[in-house]
Amino acid sequence: MTTFVTNDRRLGVVISGDVHCRLIEHCVRAGHKETGGVLIGHYTDLHDQAIVTEVTGPPSDSIRRRASFIRGLAGLQGHVDRAWRRHRYYLGEWHFHPFMPATPSDRDKTQIKDFSQDAAYACPEPILIVVGGDPRHDPQIEVGVMREKNLVTLVPSDEVDRLLPR
Ligand SMILES: [Zn+2]
Repeated sequence: MTTFVTNDRRLGVVISGDVHCRLIEHCVRAGHKETGGVLIGHYTDLHDQAIVTEVTGPPSDSIRRRASFIRGLAGLQGHVDRAWRRHRYYLGEWHFHPFMPATPSDRDKTQIKDFSQDAAYACPEPILIVVGGDPRHDPQIEVGVMREKNLVTLVPSDEVDRLLPR
């Protein structure tokens, strides 16, 4: 399990080993094309941690290219509705930059900002996970969250501990 946190420690995003494995499996299967999906999970009562419990693969109407991914919608609403009944919610988006850095592109930032403002998602501060690198041998993960119209990068909590001793 890895917890990624904002520098001010006000938000943590918890990614279990299982969720991490699922992400990597999707990326390995995607080969040299981008892929992605949505993040499902829940917030803690204090709203200071987002626990990602599930990641979906690409809906069948997604557009997957070598250097772009446009997530489709097919089947997604039903999936989110079923999750809702288990008290699990849409938390944001993820996608894969095959054999490239996991840094979100300007277009990625614009897309996640659009999602944050789209009432249909009911998620004003969506999380964006980008997986980059070689998924089999050296996957990289970047986690960000939309805060006041900017994508804020989170870092693994053990790195923050080194940077900013409590
Ligand atoms: Zn991207």
